[in-house]
Amino acid sequence: MTAALKKKIFAGKRITPAEALSLFSWDLLELGGAADFRRRLVHPQNTVGFILDRIINFTNICEACCSFCAFHSRAALPPYELSVKEILHKTGELAAMGGSQVMLQGGLHPDHGIEHYAGLLKAVKKKYPGIALHSFSPSELVHAAKKSRLPLDEALIRLKAAGLASMPGASDLLVDRIRSKVSPRKITTAQWEEVMRALARHGLPSSATMTYGMGETLRERVKHLEVVRRTQDATGIIRAFIPWSFSPGNTRLPDIVPATGVDYLKIVAVSRIFLDNVRYIQAGWLTEGLKLAQVALAMGANDMGGVLTEERVVKATGSGARACAEEFIDLIKNAGRAPVLRDSAYRVIDRRPWRKK
Ligand code: SF4
Repeated sequence: MTAALKKKIFAGKRITPAEALSLFSWDLLELGGAADFRRRLVHPQNTVGFILDRIINFTNICEACCSFCAFHSRAALPPYELSVKEILHKTGELAAMGGSQVMLQGGLHPDHGIEHYAGLLKAVKKKYPGIALHSFSPSELVHAAKKSRLPLDEALIRLKAAGLASMPGASDLLVDRIRSKVSPRKITTAQWEEVMRALARHGLPSSATMTYGMGETLRERVKHLEVVRRTQDATGIIRAFIPWSFSPGNTRLPDIVPATGVDYLKIVAVSRIFLDNVRYIQAGWLTEGLKLAQVALAMGANDMGGVLTEERVVKATGSGARACAEEFIDLIKNAGRAPVLRDSAYRVIDRRPWRKK
């Protein structure tokens, strides 16, 4: 079985879910080497991209109150809601440092319908037309559409007209057995897939994430990957896949033992091999730390994501690394790869970003 599977992987062929499951029992370095081989098939040029961006978490008032979240106002932080003026100020700071992408994301505020979400996009786009708005999430879209009593397609038409360029896939764990326990008021797996199909109909690219380590089995982790691969086969809109581990600090799941570094590296490697239709696998430095993210670059990852200035959701758990472009450049070079600055659509905008150091 292992010899046959190795042959399949090194021939660049698609593997089955059962084969993906068996990869978790492989020796880590052997698995990482196979994933790096698959990465080089897709990206022979040895580059690792990153983007200057800013997450603006505009409110933590949220009617979902997921037990795995430390960010919402009934968990660790007092309630807040940023004004448009504050959002513009933060966007201005990003623009001044040469940033190119803003991720507006927030809780499911009981008073926010589609008009509110569209208003935020319009305000940012009017003042900073060059900033790409990679914003909101499938849960926020479903929430806003429901509040405004609109079908998803109409809601997306309005957001796109207001300046939305793409939407992060923010998929948590696409396993309803776990979702019903940790986020029962959030969308189901089927609804997530529905949103992705709607995004595709409106020409809006997306991504997919995976928050693992919430009591799921290895088989369920593969199930999540199956949903992502199936969705990508159907839509082609998933630009990147970003796995990260659940951080239990300040959540209502304090007894969960955090996943280990080996767990993380195996997820990255299995994702690279199984998701043969997703070009970019991001190293999740925010939850795993810069040093482990650097190792992930040798095991299938080929993008560092963004500097995510002022991200609050992960930081609310008490974990969450910090980084700047200079650190990205140094660690990518130190890993023997070539750092490139990219835009929101993964186009290279600077092949020698270290000149600006
Ligand atoms: S994960 Fe999102 S939807 Fe759930 S409580 Fe946190 S902010 Fe709200």
